[in-house]
Amino acid sequence: MSTRAQFDQHMVPNYAPFAQVPERGEGPYIYTEDGEQLIDLAGGIAVSALGHCHPVLVNALTEQAQKLWHVSNLMTNKPATDLAAVLCAETFAERVFFCNSGAEANEAALKLARRYAYEVYGAQKNRIVAFDNGFHGRTLFTVSVGGQPKYQEGFGPCPGGITHVPYNDVAALDATMDDNVCAIMIEPLQGEGGMMPATAEFVAAARRLADQHNALLIFDEVQSGVGRSGYLYGYQALGITPDIVSSAKALGCGFPIGAMLTTAEIARVLTPGTHGTTSGGNPLGCAVALAAINLIRQPDFLQTVRDNSDWMRDELIAMGARTGAFSDVRHMGLWFGCELSPVLKDRAGDIMKHGLAQGVMLLVAGANVVRLAPALNTPRDVLARGLEKMEAAITDTLGG
Ligand SMILES: *Cc1c(COP(=O)(O)O)cnc(C)c1O
Repeated sequence: MSTRAQFDQHMVPNYAPFAQVPERGEGPYIYTEDGEQLIDLAGGIAVSALGHCHPVLVNALTEQAQKLWHVSNLMTNKPATDLAAVLCAETFAERVFFCNSGAEANEAALKLARRYAYEVYGAQKNRIVAFDNGFHGRTLFTVSVGGQPKYQEGFGPCPGGITHVPYNDVAALDATMDDNVCAIMIEPLQGEGGMMPATAEFVAAARRLADQHNALLIFDEVQSGVGRSGYLYGYQALGITPDIVSSAKALGCGFPIGAMLTTAEIARVLTPGTHGTTSGGNPLGCAVALAAINLIRQPDFLQTVRDNSDWMRDELIAMGARTGAFSDVRHMGLWFGCELSPVLKDRAGDIMKHGLAQGVMLLVAGANVVRLAPALNTPRDVLARGLEKMEAAITDTLGG
C-alpha cells in the first residue's frame, strides 16, 4: 500500500492527489488499493483513449520491450518511421518530430514557427499571437503563450513577443495582426480553459489572417487529437488545414509521447542540430502509439465515437434539466464540459470528490466546469452507469 502521507513526505507539493491510490486498471475501470472499482470518465485527463491495459497495446509494448528500448537519435528505428508514416498518411502533414509530452510538442511548434520566419522573412518577424485562457503546457515558453497569467506568476522574466487576444473574437484577432506575426496558436477547443469550442468562423478567420500576413497557423491538438473529437484530429472537423499540429496525451494512450506534425516546406528549416530531445521517437513509445492509432483511425471506430458523443450530449442535457445543475453543456466528440449553474457555482471540485465516493472518476476544467473525457471505446452501458453515478454525485453536492 502507498498513502497520501507518503506522497506528502517525499514529493514536491505541486499536486494534491486524492487519498485513494489506484492499483490497476482494466478497460473503463480503475481499481484502488482498497479494492474499490471506479468507472473512469476522466481518462487520465484525456490520455487513456483506449481504456486501461488494452490487450493490443500491452502486446505492442511487451513485444517491443523484448527487442529494443532506446538507441537515441543517432539512429532511427522501425516503430518511429512506421508511426510517422501513418501520421502523415492520415493528416495534412508530411514531416513529424517526436518528443515526450504535449509541452515539448508545443515548444517545438513555437520554435519551428520562429525559425521558419527568421529564415524566410528575417528576425523581425517573431510575434506570436495566442488567446486568453489558452493552455499549451508548463515549460516557460508554453506558459508564456498560454493565456492564464497564474501559470506565469513568479517564473519571469518570460519570453517576449507574445500577444493574447480573446478567443473566438475575430475582430480582436484581426486588429492585432501585422506582418511581424510568425504564428497564431489555437486550441480547436480550449480544454483546460473551461471546455470552450472554437467557432467555425473564428478558425476560418485565423486561417485567412495567417495567410494574409505570411504567419503559420499552429493547432494545439494535445488534448483534442487522436480521436477525441470524433475525428483523428480536431482540425478535420473544422474544415481548415493548419500548418503545424502538436499531439501528445492520447497519442500514447498512457505511454508518454508527443509529436509535432508539419509540411515538408516548413520542416526544412529544422536542419541537423537546430532542435532535439534524447528520448523522442524511442521505439517503446512509438510501438505503443502505432498500435493505438491503428485502432483509433478506423472509420467505424471514429463513427462510434461520434454516435456515442451525440447520445452522451443528450444524456447530459437531460441530467441538467432534471437536476438544475448545468447552465450549459459544451462538447466536441467524446469530450464534454458541463458548466455549473448558479446553485452550484464554482463547485466542480466538490462534484468530483462526491463522484469518487459514488464510484466514478470525473474531471474539472476550472472551478465551474465538470469535464468528461472517457476512453473512446467505453461501452455505452458503462458510460450510462458512469453518468448515473455522476448524477448521484451532483445530488450529494446539492444536498451538502
Ligand atoms: C495537456 C495539454 C498540454 C500539455 O501537455 P503535457 O503532456 O502535460 O506537457 C498542452 N496543450 C494542451 C491543449 C493540453 O491539453
